[in-house]
Amino acid sequence: MSDFDFDLFIIGAGSGGVRASRIAAAHGARVAVAEEHRLGGTCVIRGCVPKKLLVYGAHFAEDLDDAAMFGWDVPEKRFDWAVLRDNVMAEVSRLEGLYGETLTNHQVKVFKERATLTGPNHIRLASGRTVTAGKILIAVGCRAALPEIPGIEHAITSNEVFHLERMPKRVVIGGGGYIANEFAGIFHQFGAHVTLVNRSDTILRGYDEQIVDRLVKISVAKGIDMRFNSGFQAIEKQDDGSLLCRMKGSADIVADEVLFAIGRLPNTEELGLEQLGVQLTDRGAVVIDQDFRSTVPSIFAVGDVTDRIQLTPVAIREGQAFADTQFGNKPTRVDYGCIPSSVFSHPPIGTVGLTESQAKNKLGVVRTYTSDFRPMKNVLAGRNERSLYKLVVDDGSDEVVGIHMIGPDAPEIMQAAAIAVKARLKKADFDATVALHPTMAEELVLMR
Ligand code: NDP
Repeated sequence: MSDFDFDLFIIGAGSGGVRASRIAAAHGARVAVAEEHRLGGTCVIRGCVPKKLLVYGAHFAEDLDDAAMFGWDVPEKRFDWAVLRDNVMAEVSRLEGLYGETLTNHQVKVFKERATLTGPNHIRLASGRTVTAGKILIAVGCRAALPEIPGIEHAITSNEVFHLERMPKRVVIGGGGYIANEFAGIFHQFGAHVTLVNRSDTILRGYDEQIVDRLVKISVAKGIDMRFNSGFQAIEKQDDGSLLCRMKGSADIVADEVLFAIGRLPNTEELGLEQLGVQLTDRGAVVIDQDFRSTVPSIFAVGDVTDRIQLTPVAIREGQAFADTQFGNKPTRVDYGCIPSSVFSHPPIGTVGLTESQAKNKLGVVRTYTSDFRPMKNVLAGRNERSLYKLVVDDGSDEVVGIHMIGPDAPEIMQAAAIAVKARLKKADFDATVALHPTMAEELVLMR
């Protein structure tokens, strides 16, 4: 037994913090976690989970239209935002409860208040109490960045978007990344006119260009106004309550809501880190080594606050590796290779490994295979939307080094396909696999 109150004190009960706390506790450590908002963090409370439920809800707009060609007589459809919003929030609360139960079941002491650091082993809680811990884990995540423009107080971020009182008729979205494209699809399906404003000529930078190009074409065909090389000068609230966006690079826009999704910044402000000598990057991220240790030996960090790969499953892996290494006598490092990711746009994108241009830069000669097809369901429904699958293959080794897909269920298919890329399977292995017919995924083994 050490002289400290706890062996491990974690600040932040999100994906990384909760995983680290329950694993460390299971290894026998005396663990406490402080959370100033709600248990579950960004993913559960104001991110992946409620977003995915909205994506499901949004899909009914097209499914109900398509149903007629499948013989269903659907009376005129009508969408009630308040019903969906409240059901989603109830589910979020249920999950929050489960997170609390998990922590309690593992004897993790939960402080539902803000915590700051006052020493390498000292934590001050908002209530005034000071506790000590042998090790401290910073798992406080990120917050939405906002541009510094006049009238920014009228805009919302992904925090507020789940709680809107009513569905806006006109939405302007600033940014061209994950959140912007996901919410462009969601709002559009719910009947809003959406304008997506991107500062450069590329959205979803880092994704395969052909796939991104397909999303742009489909989004524009659906009626989403996509503006490129364009930015905001100011937002002015007008007498009728609408918001006038003064733009540069394109015409001004009048909207009911303005959502910014221009990236997320680490939540390290006023935690007391710098005073202790914890090195931060210029964006405020905690600088860590391969074992998540900061420049102060007793202080560690995992997840978004390290500003490397801002994805929930990565934070969970990091929390697990940290706890196994520090408290389980099982030194573990996270393998960051071939992490699959998805954009839950309409239609969604799934990707793993290298894009064509990344592969060319890294490997020299590459082969690409594409399948550009109209899913069977879309054909019968009379929907013109085409899917695009792409394999990137290292010409020398025949290894499939990247898979990129846009189309219905692409994320679901990608999770399985990512195993093949992670396992460094060859194009010949794909060719040798018999197709599962009739599916969309069979295209993956039919590209020649
Ligand atoms: P992203 O990093 O995905 O995209 C940010 C976008 O905003 C880019 O298009 C970027 O343009 C643009 N941008 C950046 N700074 C400015 C600025 N000052 N003015 C105007 N535009 C700007 O950020 P998100 O906020 O969408 O998401 C944050 C993170 O959350 C993601 O990186 C992702 O890791 C995670 N996330 C993951 C999801 C998933 O897995 N499905 C879903 C939602 C979020 P440019 O390309 O020119 O830099």
